[in-house]
Amino acid sequence: MVVELISVGTELLLGNIVNTNAAYLSEKLAALGLSCYHQSVVGDNEKRLEETVRQAVSRADIVILSGGLGPTKDDLTKEVTAKVFGRKLVEDEHTRERIAGYFSRMRSGNVTENNWKQALVPEGARVVDNYNGTAPGLIIEENGRIAILLPGPPNEIKPMFERDIVPYLRSLEPEGIYSKMVKICSIGESKAETMVLDLMENQSNPTIAPYAKTGEVHFRVTAKAADEKEADRLMEPMLKELFLRFGDKIYTTSEEVTLEEAVVELLKVKGLTLTTAESCTAGLLAGRIMNVSGASKVYNEGYITYSNAAKEKLVKVRRETLDKYGAVSKETAAEMAEGAAKAAEAGASVSVTGIAGPDGGTEEKPVGLVYIGCHVKGNTRTEEFIFTGNRAKNREYAVVRALTLLREELLKA
Ligand code: ATP
Repeated sequence: MVVELISVGTELLLGNIVNTNAAYLSEKLAALGLSCYHQSVVGDNEKRLEETVRQAVSRADIVILSGGLGPTKDDLTKEVTAKVFGRKLVEDEHTRERIAGYFSRMRSGNVTENNWKQALVPEGARVVDNYNGTAPGLIIEENGRIAILLPGPPNEIKPMFERDIVPYLRSLEPEGIYSKMVKICSIGESKAETMVLDLMENQSNPTIAPYAKTGEVHFRVTAKAADEKEADRLMEPMLKELFLRFGDKIYTTSEEVTLEEAVVELLKVKGLTLTTAESCTAGLLAGRIMNVSGASKVYNEGYITYSNAAKEKLVKVRRETLDKYGAVSKETAAEMAEGAAKAAEAGASVSVTGIAGPDGGTEEKPVGLVYIGCHVKGNTRTEEFIFTGNRAKNREYAVVRALTLLREELLKA
């Protein structure tokens, strides 16, 4: 089946917002085994939107539109798509009740009249409830052509897509595509790919494909099967082989689980609390860990020790160490991790100190040089890295490496 994407919004055309919905949807569609040959962005203009929808409907089986479902006058997606499919708009009682419920939960007393516009749906359309906003998703089916209308805000479209649209798309084809994401850390991308070259060359069902991810390696294993059980059976030998080759470097086979989630889970299993002492990443690492719901069970406090004075004051790095080896050194990284563990009374601790750039590098200590310290159950390990990205990328790499190192030490503990 061929799917076409239309992202609606003048803000997208002006570059005010980045079209992350298109990237998200494309990746999901590929994982479902659906082909996408065209994508377009169109502003909030009735005539141009209509032209775009008509063209998409003429050449694709399924057209997915995102954005323009809201309450304001320039939100036209529903009206225009209904016109193209020759449907009139009718009020959907269920959606009206949900909108009323949403505003009462928000304790928003005066719902403006235009909000009720969101309860109007093309006649005969399937309504997909929005659990994170007011505009519902809509599915219109007509003579083998399908339009799926989804809200623009990423925090609305993503849960709606996962919960209702994926099962709907799967139901359209008897043979579905099922996949698992094998996520690997502690190994470089080219080495990991070399280790599975034979599997990639001899693939049929399931297939295996690498995905780029900062500091990690992901392989998507995809099977075509009648149902999930059959897909699991087909994928099992390939997954077994990957576990044989990569062992505990694989931290999950689930699409949803992130490295920080795997680390938080491991801390819970080991019964350890974690603290962080960050210089060049200045809170990024702690922020990644705090992305995980329930992180408070393993994390009480952490330290941003950007200056030398802060390193001495908060995590008791010795003045002599700073003078002799410098703030960016393995000795300082070790003392940061040890001092933080002591100050926070934590069983596990990670420190990051480095030169993120673009300034501050020297011949001896170039931009991108980062030391990471890890102190778990009384043992300290430090590692040196030289990253070659810009400031933002170097900080991001440092965070992933810190999580990876911590995971390795936790597995040993
Ligand atoms: P609402 O009900 O909030 O009005 P909507 O379905 O009408 O939602 P838009 O008004 O088009 O959607 O967009 C609302 C917001 O959603 C935008 O300001 C933007 O932050 C985000 N958004 C919309 N389209 C995209 C996109 N393609 N990629 C990323 N973000 C988007």
